[in-house]
Amino acid sequence: MNIQENISLLPYNTFGIDKKAKFFSVAESIDDVKNAIEGAKSKDVSLIVLGGGSNILLTQDIDAWVLKIELKGIEITQEKDGYLQVAVGAGEVWHDFVMHCIANDWAGVENLSLIPGTVGASPMQNIGAYGIEIKEVFDKLEAINRATLALETFDWDSCKFGYRESVFKNELKDQYIITKVYFKLDKTPKFNVSYGAIAETLKQMGNTTLSIRSISDAVIQIRQQKLPDPKVIGNAGSFFKNPTISTDQYDELKEKYSSIPGYPVEGGIKVPAAWLIEQDGWKGKTFGSIGVHKNQPLVLVNYGNGDGLEIAKLSKEIRTSVFNKFGIMLHPEVNFL
Ligand SMILES: Cc1cc2nc3c(=O)[nH]c(=O)nc-3n(C[C@H](O)[C@H](O)[C@H](O)COP(=O)(O)OP(=O)(O)OC[C@H]3O[C@@H](n4cnc5c(N)ncnc54)[C@H](O)[C@@H]3O)c2cc1C
Repeated sequence: MNIQENISLLPYNTFGIDKKAKFFSVAESIDDVKNAIEGAKSKDVSLIVLGGGSNILLTQDIDAWVLKIELKGIEITQEKDGYLQVAVGAGEVWHDFVMHCIANDWAGVENLSLIPGTVGASPMQNIGAYGIEIKEVFDKLEAINRATLALETFDWDSCKFGYRESVFKNELKDQYIITKVYFKLDKTPKFNVSYGAIAETLKQMGNTTLSIRSISDAVIQIRQQKLPDPKVIGNAGSFFKNPTISTDQYDELKEKYSSIPGYPVEGGIKVPAAWLIEQDGWKGKTFGSIGVHKNQPLVLVNYGNGDGLEIAKLSKEIRTSVFNKFGIMLHPEVNFL
């Protein structure tokens, strides 16, 4: 295992923030993961796990050991009449895995095309887009217990998935390193085109026969039009989660703001954070090298030499301002480091 010291994390985060890691290594095997856990202990620093760095905000130099997960491999582990169980190394790039599924006619993840990051991070926040969350195709995962170094298995229930949530972001935060994820994929697709502009985009693209590939193509086209490409403008996708408020609060707001969108969910009404931020006047605002994206107000951006701390400060100002206007507190989806 090659341990580097005081290296820049600029190539390892999609926000494009230039902060240093005191120690840095790459894990291509379970042994590499265990060695890093022990190495960090012996140096008396904490261990921070990194996948594709597409859901983090670096606010300072990291006085810790950063371990980049690159465990690879995609294999069928079970095949039954209607479905396949596929085991995927945590370091596989999520979109490459989706493309692999489409090439092999394995259905279930096509709506999640083009989400940046790694397979290992996908259960962390139960990634979701265009009407699908990974909890719908998730079977189980393997993770190393940082305290005992034992490889443990987590089934669907023990992951406690919620909207952009799992047990690994809550009770078990920083206690496990995910090494492999098992998905349950369909041999016969169940197409889901009800969400967003998928059906309309398919029509515009001249696609008359539905397939997992055509849905993936449509999702990719929509995402490329809607979201800034991190290779061009630094960002971490949606910065905030969409808040759920009580029906009473929603009805009160509806009287004042008749166009406020809302979707019934368990526990109340989900309101798009993008709408709240835009109505509050933040859309497209720029402050030096950072700002709120001009088309997608949910995305905070780094136009060049932006600083993570400045972005964190901007996110706090947006939260306060949205709260003062609507009485709704936004919560970040991005992990601050
Ligand atoms: C342009 C853009 C669009 C996006 N669109 C979406 C979207 O549509 N839906 C969505 O859900 N998300 C979206 N995201 C967010 C991001 O892609 C996902 O959260 C993704 O799963 C992050 O993966 P990563 O490997 O980059 O994780 P990282 O950013 O590297 O890590 C995220 C967190 O997970 C932890 N972690 C990472 N790997 C492991 C592991 N193997 N074991 C234990 N902990 C680990 C890290 O410590 C960190 O706390 C978007 C981001 C961008 C930049």
